[in-house]
Amino acid sequence: MAKQQKSLKGLGARYGIKIRKQYTKIHLQLKAKRSCPQCGSKSFGRDYVGIWSCKKCNLKVAGMAYDIKL
Ligand SMILES: [Zn+2]
Repeated sequence: MAKQQKSLKGLGARYGIKIRKQYTKIHLQLKAKRSCPQCGSKSFGRDYVGIWSCKKCNLKVAGMAYDIKL
């Protein structure tokens, strides 16, 4: 059985290591906890690609695909 690489989820061995490393980095960015810029709630996250929203105050922000930083 092949060794499982926990940190490189989702893509398998289809792509090169460089791309997989980038993907892992982006994946961690996506999962990272963020605070809502309006109410400070931690229920702030990405809704769709480029759309970030807060579940507490329903603030919607257009950000980048993988991170809120503009
Ligand atoms: Zn909020």
